[in-house]
Amino acid sequence: MLMNMKDLLVVAQKNKFAVPAFNTSSSMILKGVMEGCREKKSPVIIAIHPDELSFLEDSYIATVREEIMNSNIPGVIHLDHGGTFAQVMRAIHCGFTSVMIDASLLSFEENIAITKKVIEAAHPVNVSVEAELGTIGTTGNGGGEAGTEQIIYTQPDTVKEFVERTGVDTLAIAIGTSHGIYPKNMKPKLKLDLLKEIRGIVDIPLVLHGGSSNTDSEIAEAVRLGISKINISSDIKDAFYKKCREVLQDPDIREPNAIYPPCIEAMKEVIYAKLELFNDIDKVKYYK
Ligand SMILES: [Zn+2]
Repeated sequence: MLMNMKDLLVVAQKNKFAVPAFNTSSSMILKGVMEGCREKKSPVIIAIHPDELSFLEDSYIATVREEIMNSNIPGVIHLDHGGTFAQVMRAIHCGFTSVMIDASLLSFEENIAITKKVIEAAHPVNVSVEAELGTIGTTGNGGGEAGTEQIIYTQPDTVKEFVERTGVDTLAIAIGTSHGIYPKNMKPKLKLDLLKEIRGIVDIPLVLHGGSSNTDSEIAEAVRLGISKINISSDIKDAFYKKCREVLQDPDIREPNAIYPPCIEAMKEVIYAKLELFNDIDKVKYYK
C-alpha cells in the first residue's frame, strides 16, 4: 500500500506511534526491512539519501515502489535530506511519494523560500514535503548524513511562523540527536521539554533524525510525547555488515543466497526492536 508521508503520519500521530524511516539503498537491506515490517504488521518508510540515490539507478526506485505496492502494509518512499531543488525534482520524477528539503543551514527566510518552492512542485502530484528547523548534530560517522558539530536546537518561537508560511506537511526538529553512531565519550541527551513545547505549538507530524543509539527510554518517551517518524540508518547497517564480515571470513563462500540470509536475520533483530520501541507493531489495522 503505497502512500505519501502526510497520509501515513496523520494516522500515526493520532494513535501515538512512530513509523521508522529506514535508510535503504541496497536490495538486500530492502528485503530485510520489508520482511521484518510485514511480519510485525508495521507501517514503514523507505528512506533514500541523495548520496545513496546518486549511487543507485532509477530502476531501484521502481523496485522499492513495487515492493511496497505488493505488500499489505502501508509504506512511503521518501527522499532523505534533499539538498537542492534539482535533487527533489529527480526524486519526484522517479516516483518518490515524499521528499525532504533540508535548508536548515540557510537563513530562516531562505529556508522558508525553498521549502515553499518545493511544496509548489510536490503537492500537485500528491508528494508530501518534510522540512527541518534547527540542525541535527553529527558524530562524524553518519555516512553521507551531515550535521553541525554543535546541535542548533529548534527555537520554539520560529516553529509556528515556519509551518504557517510554508504549509509544510511534516517537520524535523533538533532536540538533541545526532546522525551516526555516538562515540563512547559522547552522551546524547534529548531535550524532551523542548519537544513538549513544540508539540503544543503546531499540529503537523514531527520527525526525529539521528535516532540510532539514543537511549531506548528517551526514544520511547519522545514517541509518547508526539514524535511520529524516527530516522534509523546506522543501527540497521551496522547489524547487517557486522554479520557480513563474519560470514565472509570463510573464503569459500561466494553465493549471495549463502552470504545474505544470516545478515538479513541479524538486521531483522534490530528492526524488531525498533518497531517495538516506536510502538509501531500491529498498526496496519489503522489504515483500512
Ligand atoms: Zn537525517
